[in-house]
Amino acid sequence: MENASPSTIKGTGVVAGVAYAEAVWVRPRPELPTAGETVAEEQRDAEYDHFLEAADIVASRLEQRAAGAEGQAAEVLGATAGMVKDRGWHKAVRKGIRSGKNAEYAVVGATDRFVTMFEAAGGVMAERTTDLKDVRDRVIAQLRGEQEPGLPMVEGEAVLLADDLAPADTATLDTTHIKALVTELGGPTSHTAIIARQLDLPCIVAVGAELRTIEAGTQIFVDGSVGTVTLGADRTASLKAVEEYREKAARVAEWRGPAQTKDGHRVQLLANVADGNAARIASDSQAEGIGLYRTELSFLSASEEPTVEEQARIYGKVFNAFPDSKVVVRTLDAGSDKPISYATLDSEENPALGVRGLRIARDNEALLTRQLDAIAQAAEKRAEGATTWVMAPMVATAVEAKWFAELCRERGLTAGAMIEVPAAALMADTILPHLDFVSIGTNDLTQYTMAADRLSPQLAYLTDPWQPAVLRLIQHTCVVGRDNNVPVGVCGEAAADPMLACVLTGLGVTSLSAASTAVAGVGAQLAEVTLEQCQKMADAAVNAEGPADARAAVIDLLEQFQAS
Ligand code: PEP
Ligand code: MG
Repeated sequence: MENASPSTIKGTGVVAGVAYAEAVWVRPRPELPTAGETVAEEQRDAEYDHFLEAADIVASRLEQRAAGAEGQAAEVLGATAGMVKDRGWHKAVRKGIRSGKNAEYAVVGATDRFVTMFEAAGGVMAERTTDLKDVRDRVIAQLRGEQEPGLPMVEGEAVLLADDLAPADTATLDTTHIKALVTELGGPTSHTAIIARQLDLPCIVAVGAELRTIEAGTQIFVDGSVGTVTLGADRTASLKAVEEYREKAARVAEWRGPAQTKDGHRVQLLANVADGNAARIASDSQAEGIGLYRTELSFLSASEEPTVEEQARIYGKVFNAFPDSKVVVRTLDAGSDKPISYATLDSEENPALGVRGLRIARDNEALLTRQLDAIAQAAEKRAEGATTWVMAPMVATAVEAKWFAELCRERGLTAGAMIEVPAAALMADTILPHLDFVSIGTNDLTQYTMAADRLSPQLAYLTDPWQPAVLRLIQHTCVVGRDNNVPVGVCGEAAADPMLACVLTGLGVTSLSAASTAVAGVGAQLAEVTLEQCQKMADAAVNAEGPADARAAVIDLLEQFQAS
C-alpha cells in the first residue's frame, strides 16, 4: 500500500480506460492586463527591448520543443514559434509601446488587431486566432517572469489535470507521455471529451473544485469507465489494472468488423462525421458507413446560404469517402449552440428550447427543400447499391415526421428522424409509422429528459447517457421500432461507450454511430458477449436507480460473464 487510506474523487467518465501515473497540471493562462500606466518617452526603447527579449525566449523554447517533437506536433510548435517572431506583430507591438503603452498592454493590443483581421478573413485564418492568443499569453507570462502557460513538459508518464482544455492545449498533446485527462469543468460533449475520444485517452470531466486538491507530482489512479480518480491507490493492483487495460487495447486494435455479438447477432457500426475530411478518416476505421453526417457544421461560418450546387458538392465529398456504403445525412441542425447566420433567429430567450433543427423549416420550408434537393443531387452520383438515408433533427411530433418524410420521398430519398426530444420517444408509436428509420440522439435526449443543459459542467452528473430515464425512453422506442419494422439506431455519444453499446444492443438498437476512433472499442466489446447477456445488462441498467448504479450493475454482470 502506498497510502493507508486511499481516497477517491468522482467526476463523469467520458472515455473508458485506466491509467496510473503522476499528476501534472496545465498551467493557467495569465490574466490579461488592462490599460496600464503610460511609459515615459525615454523608457520606451527599453520597454520594447524587454518585449523583444521575452519574445525571443518564448520562441526559442518553442523551437527547442519542435526539435524534440515529430510530425504534426513539430509542425504546430514550429508554426507557433514563427508567430512569436512575426515581424508584422512585432511592428504592431512597437507602435503600441511608442504610443506610451507598457509592453504587456501593447502585446494585447497588437494581438487583438491581428485577431480581428484573421477573423474577418475567415476560414483557415480564423482558426489561427487561438494560436495567436496562445502566443500572446506565453509572451505576457514571460514578461512577468511567470511560468509559461499551457501544457507542461513531461518526461515520464503523466495524467494531465486542467480546469478545461483549450484546442491549443491539445494540439501538441503527446500520448506517449500523457496517459489520461481529468478536468474540473467540461461535460460529455465538451472539447476535452471530443479530443480525448479522438486520441483514445481515458478521460474524466466535471470533477469539480475537489480536483484542485491534487498536487502536481502525486501518483494517481484514473478509471475513465467509472469516472474516478484515486489518490493513494495500491501500486501493484493499479499497475495490474493498467496492464489488463493495455491488453484490451491491443485486442481492440486488432478487431475487424463487421460487428456482431459472440453468438452472431449483427449490429451495424457507423461513424459520426462533420465533413469530407472526417469521412475520409472514418473510411480508414472499421466503420461500415456513416450514421450521422452533421451537415450544419459545414456552414457555421457561412454568411449566406450556399447554392444547391455548392451544397451538393460539399455533400458529395462525404459520399465519396464511402462510395458503396450507407451514409445517413442529417438536415441542418442549426440553432441553439450551433447558430448559422442565414438560418437561425437572431436572438431567443432560450435557444436550446427554441427554433432549432427541423423547426427552422416551419417558416422557411424552401431552406429545407433546397438542402434536400442538394442531397438528392449528390446522392444521384453515388454507385448503384449505395444507401443514402436522410433524417431530420429535433422532430417532436407525428405531424413533423410526416411532413418531413413527404418532402424526402418527393425527391426519392429514404426518410428518417432523430429521436432526441422526449415527446418523440414517448409518442414513437405515432411517429415511426411515417418513417423508414429513426436514430436516437442521446446527447439531446438526455439534455431534454433531465432538463439539464448539455454544456453545463455543473450538471454533467445529470447529462449522463447512463441515466435510466433515458434508457427507458430508448427501450420504448426500440419496442415500437420492432413492432413497426423500423430500424432504430443510436448516434449520440452514448454509442461510443463500449459497455453502454452492449446495453443499447440488449434494448434492441440495430445500429450504433460514434466517433470513428470509438468504433473498434465498441466492436471488440460486443464480440465478447452474447445477445442474451446484452439483454441482461440492459435489464439491469434500465432498472437501476441512477447512472452510477446502472454502470456498476453492468460492470458486475460483465465480470460474471467473463468468469463463466
Ligand atoms: C444528439 O443530440 O445526440 C446528436 C447526435 O446530435 P447533436 O449532438 O449534433 O445535437
Ligand atoms: Mg442533437
